[in-house]
Amino acid sequence: MSGQEVVDWLPSDEVDEVLRNAGRDADVDGGRFRAVLQKAQELKGLDMADVATLCQANTPEQLDELFATARAVKETIYGHRMVLFAPLYISNVCGNECTYCAFRSSNKSLPRTALDMDGIRRETAELVRQGHKRLLLVAGEGYPASKGGFRYILDAIAAVYDVTDATGNIRRLNVNLAPLDVEEFRQLKTAGIGTYQLFQETYHRGTYATVHPSGRKRDFDWRVTAFDRAMEAGVDDVGMGVLFGLHDWRFEVLSLMQHIRHLEAVFGVGCHTISVPRIEPADGSPLSMTPPAPVSDTDFRKIIAILRLAVPYTGLILSTRESAAIRRECYALGISQISAGSRTNPGGYSEGETAAGQFQLGDHRTLEEIVEELATMGFIPSFCTACYRLGRTGQDFMDLAKPGLIKLKCDPNAVTTFQEYLIDYAPTSARCAGEQAIARELGGMSDRARRAAERMLTKIRAGRRDIYC
Ligand code: SAM
Ligand code: SF4
Repeated sequence: MSGQEVVDWLPSDEVDEVLRNAGRDADVDGGRFRAVLQKAQELKGLDMADVATLCQANTPEQLDELFATARAVKETIYGHRMVLFAPLYISNVCGNECTYCAFRSSNKSLPRTALDMDGIRRETAELVRQGHKRLLLVAGEGYPASKGGFRYILDAIAAVYDVTDATGNIRRLNVNLAPLDVEEFRQLKTAGIGTYQLFQETYHRGTYATVHPSGRKRDFDWRVTAFDRAMEAGVDDVGMGVLFGLHDWRFEVLSLMQHIRHLEAVFGVGCHTISVPRIEPADGSPLSMTPPAPVSDTDFRKIIAILRLAVPYTGLILSTRESAAIRRECYALGISQISAGSRTNPGGYSEGETAAGQFQLGDHRTLEEIVEELATMGFIPSFCTACYRLGRTGQDFMDLAKPGLIKLKCDPNAVTTFQEYLIDYAPTSARCAGEQAIARELGGMSDRARRAAERMLTKIRAGRRDIYC
């Protein structure tokens, strides 16, 4: 599968045109900017022209208004919940040559490891011991034939789900893997994955070709059509992303909108999550030290706020690439999921940072420290995995989310999974902050949600586990 005609739904000239038009408007018409913010408050999302208008925000007043609207939309839809997860890097073996990544094949100074199943179980056991319930399995694109090729990934998924200790197990495993064919996606679904995540890196074909000089990943079309094959195979829960710093962020955000529009038109559902990685310094990658289109902290916050308004029901994921300070600023602007206590070298949780990771991390705090801070800030750290386990994915999820009904499930599930964490894993200081946050949260819930939460909390406090609605 290759060729321009395969992706006629991603016309770059449309992006250029809406950006040009928005640029002209912005000079003369602050009214259009306010009208878009007004529309965003209806929680129905925005079209490309609206998004392009918001991209033009640059005065302090406009930024304040943009951020205030994003905060309000975030709070209305997601309340105080913040879902937590950790990445599980199983392999840094890779046949690609992405010029921004430490795992690129020409980086000969990096020791290569594809964990065996015992190693994967050890890593999982350490993450379970810390209190994680939701992981993201990550690997380079190069599954060794000696380990069964793609079978290696399926075995790894089974190994993760296999691990149980006295306090629990991993309840949802998402994956971030190179594009697959339809049959492989079918096998991935059968293996029981949550979200299939894939970052396009850049939607700009010229830039894409420059930063991917060799390897299978060089094929832009194969990558950009991966979600079509996933959905054809029945994987209806997909996560998009762009590696910010490669090309102009405005172009990337609008192209992302085109990609979502395409999936909605063909499959009736867009993406479940969007990730917003920014390029961080990586060993053996000069490009990562001076990215070609760096995104400032202010523009990064704008990206998050704009995405929150453009696709209000799509989860936004922020990783530990970013510093604790930036993360704190971004939570309220629209982030619904964060990673915590991450390592990006295979074996990093059970053996420590024995080799360079994929890139430098900005937030080195433990899960425990992040949970305590979130609770103190008024958030409810959530370890909920209910939707996926009850089959509420794709269109079914959106049918509940859009009329606001999902809150009746998410709010109680967030406090009960947080309560489990506090009892089973938290040190005293985090437990105090957490119990206070739960009490506050119950006080603010609707009667119906509070009754459901209280019923489940009573059972959790009596020793039952894994209760959800
Ligand atoms: N190897 C597969 C692939 O490329 O699709 C799986 C995911 S890769 C291990 C995870 C993601 O890390 C990439 O999609 C890329 O966006 C991101 N990444 C690579 N180098 C990075 C860097 N220097 N800074 C931040 N993110 C980076
Ligand atoms: Fe390999 Fe993925 Fe890194 Fe590219 S981004 S070098 S494909 S691990």
